[in-house]
Amino acid sequence: MNPIEVNGRRYRWMHDPLVVVCVDGCEYDYLTEAARAGVAPFIAKVLGSGSAFKGDCVVPSFTNPNNLSIVTGVPPAVHGICGNYFYDRDADAEVMMNDPKYLRTGTALAAFADAGAKVAVVTAKDKLRKLLGHRMKGICFSSEKAAEATLAENGIEKVVELVGMPVPSVYSAELSEFVFAAGVKLLETRRPDLMYLSTTDYIQHKFAPGTEGANKFYAMMDRYLAKMDAMGAVIALTADHGMNAKTRADGTPNVIYLQDAIDGWIGKEKSRVILPITDPYVVHHGALGSFATIYVTGKDKETVTAKLAPLEGIEVVLDNAAAAKRFELPPDRLGDLVVVSTKHVVLGTSASRHDLSGLDAPLRSHGGISEQTVPLLFNRRVTGLQGRKLRNFDILDVALNHLEARAAVNAAAD
Ligand SMILES: [Zn+2]
Repeated sequence: MNPIEVNGRRYRWMHDPLVVVCVDGCEYDYLTEAARAGVAPFIAKVLGSGSAFKGDCVVPSFTNPNNLSIVTGVPPAVHGICGNYFYDRDADAEVMMNDPKYLRTGTALAAFADAGAKVAVVTAKDKLRKLLGHRMKGICFSSEKAAEATLAENGIEKVVELVGMPVPSVYSAELSEFVFAAGVKLLETRRPDLMYLSTTDYIQHKFAPGTEGANKFYAMMDRYLAKMDAMGAVIALTADHGMNAKTRADGTPNVIYLQDAIDGWIGKEKSRVILPITDPYVVHHGALGSFATIYVTGKDKETVTAKLAPLEGIEVVLDNAAAAKRFELPPDRLGDLVVVSTKHVVLGTSASRHDLSGLDAPLRSHGGISEQTVPLLFNRRVTGLQGRKLRNFDILDVALNHLEARAAVNAAAD
């Protein structure tokens, strides 16, 4: 088969089924700690094989911008999805960016399907499904709505029977387990040429690397990955973003409430703070992340920049053009300022607008530059990268253009 060209990148056709796994919130340490604890033997072997790398994700280090970068091979400046929300000035409305109409390019998944590949996508939450499956022929469903999957909408039916697991709660580790279990069953019964599995970061928001709760999750994941490896699949694993503790010494959330602060400096209703992490499922992070964008103009913009930049806990304040350039983001979907907080600090709007009552564990979150490092792991030997600096959205390039047929795991055991 001829190579496929998508968004300016060329991909060779796969020889074996390719399974791309996006582990939501997978800070690299989760893998090394699970391996060290002896609960993830497959991951341990890959980590020691020479086919494990660290790369950079997209900032804002959020789920949707990164998942879309992974499947399109390009940054948000090209595909358009830079968060869950933006503010539409013309409509004077905060608009959700979960609709495929905001996607500005096609995906490699759709391109391979069009060229005749059997493609399957399984996500944990349904919010990602429509974006990832946009204009794609094949199978595409979420764990969350597995029971409702139909041939017409999802390219598959009777998913729950196939997977043999009850549909899990949206706030559970099982929601991600269902994704892996479905991946194994699809490989067994349909052997897709290209499969994309995307989990949820429920566990990573709750448990730090090396803790019992985290290791249990990675042990579960390891069993499914080992099964797919044994079935002859090429496995390429990355993450949408990392995850860090965002608490003070006493364990309370370390929050800078931007709207409250700004209202104090320039007055009420002179600015609008948007937190693009906000989505309908906020229980585990209270809509608090390390990235915010502010709509504020003229002299007020100067005042806000000058007051905000030196604050402890603020990593960087950039204007629209500088932020779009540095982080490769679409300027028309950013505010006038972009603010990133430091490793253990999150950004809120007004204290009164964040319901933190659902937080049953010390806050862990993401969104900033401090959560940019992600793993890239392959169960085959990698060639021809020559110390190249990798992004998570290079995963398809490496998996299709830079892997040897020889298994990295067995090679390491030789
Ligand atoms: Zn995520």
